[in-house]
Amino acid sequence: MTTGAIPYAEVIGDPIAHSKSPVIHKFWLDALGLPGDYRRAHVTSEGLADYFARRAADPQWRGCNVTIPHKQAVLAHVEDRGGVGDSIGAVNCVLRQPDGALIGTNSDAAGFYAPIADLDLAGRPVVVVGAGGAARAVLFALSRAGVGPVTLLNRNVLKGAALLAHFALAGDALPLGAPLPPAALLVNASALGMSGSPPLALDLAPLPDDAVVYDIVYAPLETALLADARARGLDTIDGLDMLIGQAAVAFELFFDAAPPRERDEDLRALLTP
Ligand code: NAP
Repeated sequence: MTTGAIPYAEVIGDPIAHSKSPVIHKFWLDALGLPGDYRRAHVTSEGLADYFARRAADPQWRGCNVTIPHKQAVLAHVEDRGGVGDSIGAVNCVLRQPDGALIGTNSDAAGFYAPIADLDLAGRPVVVVGAGGAARAVLFALSRAGVGPVTLLNRNVLKGAALLAHFALAGDALPLGAPLPPAALLVNASALGMSGSPPLALDLAPLPDDAVVYDIVYAPLETALLADARARGLDTIDGLDMLIGQAAVAFELFFDAAPPRERDEDLRALLTP
């Protein structure tokens, strides 16, 4: 699909109707008064090669965000100049170069890290729940931040252990029911707590009073985990912070303009039912 003279980007996935990315990018395009568009594109696994062949030939297409289930599969269709395949193991952002080359990158790690950049996590123990695609971006960012031992809780413990080894993180992979250590940061990077999944049931008592609880689930925004953490008086970070943060990195790459982050409160209101 060609769209005349207007630059545009997309989010691709299967399913895709639920994606909030168009709301975020269009909000920023409008706020900046930039000509451009951002759409959802329903692309199946079988349709990936055809999709990228068509978009590579369209100079108005700046690129796309990539969501479930394509974050790994996309690596076969793009150039991985930054080595994100080896490091994070997933691509959530594809950029078209002026010569039509498609470059894969990952903005989830930066989006996850932005809200905790001011915390002093160096050498401090953290807990991560989950060992899927999002957990890979989380662990990559935490390894770069030089955190202390990571307790990784996951249903599939072997998968958790393999991720700790991949990111050269000290710590232990344990099953979901294991008691928490006194960690400075607890991150839920699993699907638990998401609409349609069981809640994440954790006893937060072992966390110190200055611990931060970060749930990257954003549907619903108010998870039982965050409610429990607030009831304990702990600081919390919700999934919209990461969602907006990863979108901000992508927006700048797509449209060559910094998004107006001073409007985050308005954007959050738009995204919160
Ligand atoms: P994924 O690759 O499918 O991984 C799912 C993870 O959840 C795995 O660790 C899996 O455990 C665990 N899990 C799923 N169902 C479970 C169940 N019934 N019981 C116990 N564990 C279960 O998914 P993902 O891409 O990592 O996404 C995970 C969550 O992060 C989703 O809610 C997604 O919306 C959210 N997310 C948010 C952002 C953001 O910007 N805020 C970005 C990306 C993802 P096993 O390994 O044992 O299967």
